[in-house]
Amino acid sequence: MPELPEVETIRAQLAPRLTGRTLARVEILDPRLTRPFDLFEVAEELEGDRITAVERRGKYLVLRLVSGLVLLVHLRMTGSFGFDPVTHERAVLELDDGTRVVYRDVRRFGTWLVLEGAELEPYLAGKNGPEPLGARFTSGWLTAQLARRRAPLKAVLLDQRVVAGLGNIYADEALWSARLSPLRPASGLSTEEVRRLTRAVRAALRRGIERQGSTLRDYATPDGSAGSMQDEFRVYGRDGEPCRRCGTPIAKARVGGRGTWFCPRCQA
Ligand SMILES: [Zn+2]
Repeated sequence: MPELPEVETIRAQLAPRLTGRTLARVEILDPRLTRPFDLFEVAEELEGDRITAVERRGKYLVLRLVSGLVLLVHLRMTGSFGFDPVTHERAVLELDDGTRVVYRDVRRFGTWLVLEGAELEPYLAGKNGPEPLGARFTSGWLTAQLARRRAPLKAVLLDQRVVAGLGNIYADEALWSARLSPLRPASGLSTEEVRRLTRAVRAALRRGIERQGSTLRDYATPDGSAGSMQDEFRVYGRDGEPCRRCGTPIAKARVGGRGTWFCPRCQA
């Protein structure tokens, strides 16, 4: 599933091609994409509008339109954008310069939702905490979130209301960097440990963005290039391989229903 670094990479590649362009034709091919709203009505709402900005909030892409409407896209498991014809096309945005922007989604969990501009913040506020690379994501804020929760640390970090945009890969990588066990009760961290974790979350996400995300299974950037973060994973997917800090074999567990990789020795 694309996480913050992958969605940010997609945003950065879409923005220069889409910003300022009019949606000459909008074709939505899968009713699941817009439900409970009718796909033809959604396409009609978008057609003729002009894109003023392509933004990101957590794992959401936000296309702002000159009419004041916004198109909020969540890629879920396998959603992606491209400029070439592909299989599993679920929607096509035809721009006024002839560019064809294709939305592809093999597993069809992605969503497109049109909102009034004023509805966007209230909608996202219920689902997303502060942006982890922004000024509001502080160790003080994270301390308050963790203190209320007895669930394992990793499970709480995956809650989008705690860290917007963080997912399975970057949570494991951040916990390794912070030398914290994913299995610890979230409320048991010291002030110093939360500080370490806050820095590690930011660092893991920044590294992911710098490497244009992780290329696993279905992820592809709109220009067809591949991210390279997977070449640098410290723990994710490395069970049995030596820890890059202490040499102990990396262990795998399930936390909150998700595969979780960690070093049983140096993550305490
Ligand atoms: Zn280790």
